[in-house]
Order: sequence, then C-alpha cells, then structure tokens
Amino acid sequence: LGGSISRALQQMSNATVIDEKVLNECLNEITRALLQSDVQFKLVRDMQTNIKKIVNLDDLAAGHNKRKIIQQAVFNELCKMLDPGKPSFTPKKGKTSVVMFVGLQGSGKTTTCTKYAYYHQKKGWKPALVCADTFRAGAFDQLKQNATKAKIPFYGSYMESDPVKIAVEGVERFKKENCDLIIVDTSGRHKQEAALFEEMRQVSEATKPDLVIFVMDSSIGQAAFDQAQAFKQSVAVGAVIVTKMDGHAKGGGALSAVAATKSPVIFIGTGEHMDEFEVFDVKPFVSRLLGMGDWSGFMDKIHEVVPMDQQPELLQKLSEGNFTLRIMYEQFQSLLKMGPISQVFSMLPGVSAELMPKGREKESQAKLKRYMTMMDSMTDEELDSTNPKLINESRMMRIARGSGRRVQEVMEMMEEYKRLAKVWSKMKGLKIPKKGEMSAL
Ligand code: GDP
Ligand code: MG
Repeated sequence: LGGSISRALQQMSNATVIDEKVLNECLNEITRALLQSDVQFKLVRDMQTNIKKIVNLDDLAAGHNKRKIIQQAVFNELCKMLDPGKPSFTPKKGKTSVVMFVGLQGSGKTTTCTKYAYYHQKKGWKPALVCADTFRAGAFDQLKQNATKAKIPFYGSYMESDPVKIAVEGVERFKKENCDLIIVDTSGRHKQEAALFEEMRQVSEATKPDLVIFVMDSSIGQAAFDQAQAFKQSVAVGAVIVTKMDGHAKGGGALSAVAATKSPVIFIGTGEHMDEFEVFDVKPFVSRLLGMGDWSGFMDKIHEVVPMDQQPELLQKLSEGNFTLRIMYEQFQSLLKMGPISQVFSMLPGVSAELMPKGREKESQAKLKRYMTMMDSMTDEELDSTNPKLINESRMMRIARGSGRRVQEVMEMMEEYKRLAKVWSKMKGLKIPKKGEMSAL
C-alpha cells in the first residue's frame, strides 16, 4: 500500500502542471490502495470527495510542497473518519459498571474480556468476569482459565444452558461483592444469525449494561461494515475493540465499524497474551493504514525538536534498540524537564497515553520521580543491563530498601520498564533518514 501511494504522489510531484486531472489520478491510486486495506468502498469515495473540496489546486500550483499537502489532507480525513464525534461511556473506578462484549465467534471476545479486566485491575479496579456463553462447549473453561491466571473473580456454569439466567446471576453476585467493573462475555456464532442477535438482545435487556463493546477481528476485510451494523441493530453498541492487529491486516475495517456503530474504537488487541492490549491511538493507526510506518512522524519530530548536536546520539541509541534502565532514567529526566526530547519520547506509541495521561500530569510526574528514586539505588551493572531478569528478587529487595520504597513498587517499575523496552525495541535496525530525506508516505 505504502508503495503505491508513494508512487502516485511521486508521479504527481514529477508532473510540471498540477491540474485536476493529475490530482484525480493521484486520488484514484490512493483509493485503490485503501480498498486493499479493507476500507469500505463508500467511505473511500466520501473521503475522495472531501479531499477534492479541501485541497486547493491553486495552492498546489503555487509550488507549495504538493506531496505534503495531499498527504496531510488524506491523513486528516482518515483521522476524522475514526472520530464519531462523541466519546464512549467510560466506567468510573469505584462505581459499578456493567460492560457487555459482543461479536462473532472467534473474533476474540473472551480473550479481550480478560485483557480489559486485567488492564483495569492493574490500575486498581475490582473487575469480575461473567461467562454467558453457553453455546460453545468449553467456553466457560476458557474464561475460567484466563480469569484464574489473572486472579480475576469469575462466574459461570457447566450445567445451566440459559445465558440470560447466568448473566443475571453473575451480575447480581458481583454487584453484591462491590466489583466496579462487571464484564459479561457472550457467545458468538460463525455467521450473523437471527438466534445470536435474539440472544444478545435478551442478555442486554436482562443485565442493562452501561456499555456494550463490539469486538471485531481486524482480518475480516470488507465484511466489517455489515457485521458491525447488524450488531448495532440488535444491541446498543457504544464502543469498538479491534483485535489481531499483530497480524497482517492493516485494520481498515475499523473505519467501517466506527461508521456503522457511530462509536469510537477504544482499544486494540495486539497478541494472544493478556498484556498485548493497547489504548487506541488514532494517529499511529492511520499511519499504519496508509503504510507510513509507525515511525515516520516520530522521525520528523526528532529532526524538528532535538538539537542537532544531540541527534546522532539519540538516533544511535534508538537504532540499537536496546532499552536499558539508564536510558529509561534519562528519558524520565527529560520528560520531567519537559525538554525537547520529552516531546519525542512521548510520541512513542503507548508512552504518552499510558505514562503521562492528559489531565493527570501531576500524578504521573510523581510516579516518574518515584521510579527515578528507585533507579538511583541501582548499580551501574543493573542500569546498563539489557536483561531485566538480572534484577531478581533479592536485588529488588535491596533496591526497595535503598530507596525506601516497597518491593511491590520496584516490581511495578520493572513492569513499566519491560513495556517501554518492548516499544523501543521496534526501533531496532531502523534506517535513520537524514533531515529532509523523509519519504512522503
Ligand atoms: P471469541 O470466540 O470471540 O470468544 O474469541 P476468543 O477470545 O476465543 O479468540 C479466538 C482466537 O483468537 C484465540 O485463539 C485467541 O487467542 C485469538 N486472539 C484473540 N485476540 C487476539 C489478538 O489480538 N491477537 C492474536 N494474534 N490473537 C488473538
Ligand atoms: Mg468466547
């Protein structure tokens, strides 16, 4: 995809006269590429119409950077299409919410329920899982196994065949136990069948969920719109989670799901494991959709904000891909100073949303300072190691003692380190373009 779009834009910038014909050719090329990424035909056509309204041919002809203008217009349009205009219902910690998951069989509901519960549990919530899938044999066992692994309370039955009854019993029980996030996993079918939708409707009516999340497999292709719409027509879908983004699919179906449900994407699934789950971030997602690579904006930013003399060192570290605790320390230091590098670091996917959530800067800063105090109690060997296993239990205890913090907090910091190291490692072997060498798309 990236290739054909860059080719289209390249052709355009080679053309001496930028007229409507050239712009059309270029947009047609982009259209073909987006269709290959599973973006629905109607959406692509709408986008094309909007772009034509936005892009001013006179601007293009006047020698402005044409590629940049079109690139930016396409990028912005796609971002806009992923924003339904209103946020989804957001559960509040300490206040009971019921969240129901729906989607076809195999889309990743059960896995995602656990990820969602685990994500909140790590932030101090009291989640619980209810298995209302009585359709598939083994469904309860699967949920039970996941829940046990994550130490999350669960409810279900091997005997009862009425999903509504189980759902109601489970929700009641966990309300009594003061759980603040009661998650109801439901069954799916291979196809969109009347029986499935009737069941969804009944479970929803009986449990009165505060939020219904539609789970969609990113690889379903052009079927996304109809599927999302079918679910929306039976239950009040309020948010979307797209799974299997670690696979080949670029996830263009997400645009369809947003359009069909008028609900935002809130998380994406990036693997089979419990922690392979990310808060949805529009810009990196669109970059990926366009084949721009997650890092092109990032590299632009580096050249823009990092002083020239500091660039080689930072870029060298990035391309080596080895994220040590010392690098983390330095990054936190510049984040706290809000220096230029912090702007770069916070653009890494998963860093700004998780480490420095908007509106909670004070809290986050205190956390970073706490982490740095603990790192101050580490030896050079520990700070420069690329093997987190080095910091074993006895070292953690020593670090905790030395910094006057709890071992639990050292463990928490190491988890954060591992998460950031994983993000950072994606930079490994990256060919670093010099300033001005960035390709457009
Ligand atoms: P359900 O039928 O909707 O409940 O789907 P499951 O949760 O049972 O998931 C179906 C399969 O997809 C399982 O093998 C999961 O491990 C796998 N799966 C779910 N989410 C992801 C993901 O984000 N990435 C990958 N690679 N696999 C996933
Ligand atoms: Mg399931």
